Amino acid sequence: MDTNTFAPPLTKNTPSKNTFELPKQSSVIVIGAGAFGGWSALYLLRAGYHVTLIDAWGAGNSRSSSGDETRVIRSTYGANKIYFDLNVRALELWKENEARFGKKLFHNAGVIWFCYNEKTPVVDDSMPFAKVHRMEYRYLSPKEINKIYPIVNTDDLHHAWLDPFGGYLMAKQSCQAVLERFVKEGGNFIQAFVKPGKITSEKMDSIQLSNGETLTADAYIFACGSWLSQIFPEALANVITCTKQEAYYFGVPSSHSLAFDQFPAWIDVDGKDHYYGIPGNGNRGFKIGVDKHGVKFDPTDGERLADPKVLADARKFIEHRFPPLKGAPLVENRVCPYENSPDGNFIFDFLPGAVNAFVLGGGTGHGFKHGPALGEYVASVFMRKRDHLSFRFLK
Ligand SMILES: Cc1cc2nc3c(=O)[nH]c(=O)nc-3n(C[C@H](O)[C@H](O)[C@H](O)COP(=O)(O)OP(=O)(O)OC[C@H]3O[C@@H](n4cnc5c(N)ncnc54)[C@H](O)[C@@H]3O)c2cc1C
Repeated sequence: MDTNTFAPPLTKNTPSKNTFELPKQSSVIVIGAGAFGGWSALYLLRAGYHVTLIDAWGAGNSRSSSGDETRVIRSTYGANKIYFDLNVRALELWKENEARFGKKLFHNAGVIWFCYNEKTPVVDDSMPFAKVHRMEYRYLSPKEINKIYPIVNTDDLHHAWLDPFGGYLMAKQSCQAVLERFVKEGGNFIQAFVKPGKITSEKMDSIQLSNGETLTADAYIFACGSWLSQIFPEALANVITCTKQEAYYFGVPSSHSLAFDQFPAWIDVDGKDHYYGIPGNGNRGFKIGVDKHGVKFDPTDGERLADPKVLADARKFIEHRFPPLKGAPLVENRVCPYENSPDGNFIFDFLPGAVNAFVLGGGTGHGFKHGPALGEYVASVFMRKRDHLSFRFLK
């Protein structure tokens, strides 16, 4: 199993000694309207700052990591309590915000973990946190799996764990809903490509926009996903790497259409290919995603074409795990960039050399679900409700 995505290690970095506090009414520019930037802009606005959000291609655009149809939401993170707790908060905030937005964004379909061995640390080690939060999983023997989900082949499974609290999120739609709400609540949105300005006396003086404008603010947050290493090659080239990730949507047979649509989000803990999937997908088909990290990728110019070998392997797997999908047609596919940090932990830190510019990113294939909780966290750091930043620190 890819520990970076499913359960990043507890960070060994010591918390930054640098603190930051920005008085209310100060101006903040957030660059990038994906899951990280969009939610941060909204929560900073709600905290009383004047916020401008800028994106080169729009919120949830298809080049971005946040631009797919759906994303899994799960608290399970192995022994990593930080993300378990963050997701518990995120779940609360997804529900609260979707009610405010008047849009269904969270689907509580549950998450089923297919386990090959008696011990599966990525799930087992989260049990104590699940207990504390009263979010316990349900153990399913192969017999029980067959009874409840006859579309599953359990031949190679020892058991499954069903997390009834998770499910999936509407991804692109959420980014657009967040932006809509941000503007409605008084935020300013600009569609333009941003180049960072010079840093003098530890302060970024301005940013340049592709429309010719120069903007200044009291603080800048660069939430540019996979692009971060291109924007700050000196500081981030070895920190954020971008890989090509593929997801496929297979057409389910009409005889089993409901059974597939009502299936939970699923994760196969096989330890090598890291397949996962999501039902429904806005009627696009049954999704299988490949979490195994792909080849290096350019998020701007990379062609979004499926690799025939990756597709053939995914097809073989999905036919094995879900026998009714034997011979199922591929109806759509997507290529998305992962914005990988070195160990899978998120990054929220000062841009090296600056006291008023921040880097927010490193979602590493698992960031989407945390968007609102991370946004709330970013705002709390600016308001000095927290003494220090606790997500991975740049040297
Ligand atoms: C295939 C795939 C499956 C995933 N599955 C899951 C999952 O099931 N659950 C989960 O929680 N997470 C998942 N993730 C991870 C999650 O989607 C990402 O971690 C998250 O979306 C990252 O959001 P972001 O805002 O950091 O980046 P992005 O969404 O990439 O947003 C960055 C934004 O910055 C803009 N931008 C970049 N450079 C500039 C510039 N210079 N000027 C202006 N704008 C700029 C871009 O246009 C873009 O909109 C998955 C990711 C992929 C690719």
